Amino acid sequence: MTAPPVLTGPSGRPIDRDSGKTLRLPIIHQRLVETYGDGVIELNWTTPLELLIATVLSAQSTDVMVNKITASLFQKYHEPEDYLAVPQEELEQDIKSSGFYRQKAKSIRGLCAGILERFDGDVPQTIAELITLPGVARKTANVVQSGAFPEAMATDPDAGIAVDTHVIRLSKRLGYTRHSDAVKIEQDLKRMYPRDQWSNASLVTILHGRRCCDALKPACYRCPVETLCPSSLAAGRTDKARQARGMGE
Ligand code: SF4
Repeated sequence: MTAPPVLTGPSGRPIDRDSGKTLRLPIIHQRLVETYGDGVIELNWTTPLELLIATVLSAQSTDVMVNKITASLFQKYHEPEDYLAVPQEELEQDIKSSGFYRQKAKSIRGLCAGILERFDGDVPQTIAELITLPGVARKTANVVQSGAFPEAMATDPDAGIAVDTHVIRLSKRLGYTRHSDAVKIEQDLKRMYPRDQWSNASLVTILHGRRCCDALKPACYRCPVETLCPSSLAAGRTDKARQARGMGE
């Protein structure tokens, strides 16, 4: 088997897991793109409203479960008015298996009312507007904008990177941030990734978190970025995500 080429930085020194994050990040990102492609949102949706509702439902749930729910939900509800035309209890039953269904039903009805009252029935395209809707924080707003409104994302001064639990864990393990707060981590990542990679950076990182870099049992032995990871258990390193929670070995 041919040995992988030795990567070197500007000084000619090899780039490895102990190199600075700005040297490692572009190579790590490239390898994740090679592994997971351009990255896709694994939620099923066809309209901005569907993406918004599916993203709200995905909190504390899995995309597989949300896709099961929305397969029938989106047959029954098409416009914001539809979610307000039924009693809240009926909507709760329709989304029950996503968990936290009472709060989610309340958020969905609230955001539909907001879209009708303040945005003429259309999902708004800017982050500043999206986060005014009930139940919509920056993570959800970033997912919706990057998925449904890429042109708006390109010019929105508030655009960013969707930071979910996988992105938080990976950002710590890879040594990209010392923060635990999602908004601060997003600021760190925005400074490191070129703007045209913000959307894809989140998507491939989430896929890597789901398929390889598990919260409890990361599969470091088969990880495509193992040689660049300062938390590699295969290299006998301490997991920086666990360390940050005071659980280091
Ligand atoms: S080497 Fe292990 S901890 Fe590091 S990114 Fe890969 S799976 Fe995660």
